[in-house]
Amino acid sequence: MSTLTSERLFNRLYPNTHKHEKQFGHLSSAIRNAETEYRKECAQGNFLFSSSVAAPYGLDKRLMTLLYDYHLVQSSGNTEYERLKNGRNGERLCGYCDIREAETLDHYKEKARYPLLAVAPSNLVPSCAKCNHNLASVDNKYHPYYDPQLPDGWLRARLIWDGSDEPPGIRYYTTRSAIGDKRLRSRVRDTLYGGSIAARWIVEFNQSLRALYRDFYDISNIDERKQIVEDTYSRRLHVYPGPMVATKHAVIASRWLRKWRTA
Ligand SMILES: [Zn+2]
Repeated sequence: MSTLTSERLFNRLYPNTHKHEKQFGHLSSAIRNAETEYRKECAQGNFLFSSSVAAPYGLDKRLMTLLYDYHLVQSSGNTEYERLKNGRNGERLCGYCDIREAETLDHYKEKARYPLLAVAPSNLVPSCAKCNHNLASVDNKYHPYYDPQLPDGWLRARLIWDGSDEPPGIRYYTTRSAIGDKRLRSRVRDTLYGGSIAARWIVEFNQSLRALYRDFYDISNIDERKQIVEDTYSRRLHVYPGPMVATKHAVIASRWLRKWRTA
């Protein structure tokens, strides 16, 4: 997460604010207060808080939206915008799905309802366009900055196979044992299902299952099959470890691997 504060960013976007002290002074302090409150609530895990910071009298919400859309994204702040899209280790992966490139910044607290947080860096999560769009109606989201990194094995998968000659399908789920904190688990679930992330993983990994289907067709030895699975899913492991590891374990543990065309 960037150490840049929204007030400093705001002053950079509007470099001549000192000339309009009266007009911007109240706004600048409201932005600072809103961000302080946001950081405090998020640090305590209260992601669904409603802000108690009032917008300055006469503030048109559109001003803050324009500040984001125009000044930060397209104009004077674009260098900051690009910098904010760099997530962990300078990688540009979406903070929610971990599979696509971060093409945008998602407002964790949406800017239409929380205009004072429109340019708060701690409220701006690197995100792919799909997650940004799909998560728009999800309030109870996983917070890539304030939530803990999820433990190994947080995601599980299970193959769906009816015993026929068709390739298997796959489903993803989280378990109580892997994510003990109830509220964190609900945020992860709302993000995966509300944001259609699990559905996109299914599409992505069905392709690899079809490739395995072709490989397994003429190989009935179970150990050889397991080795193929290891090779298939270790190649891109560093790219998106959660669903990749879950898929690998699901295939290795599956009835399909042990029973299909092995008799
Ligand atoms: Zn994404």
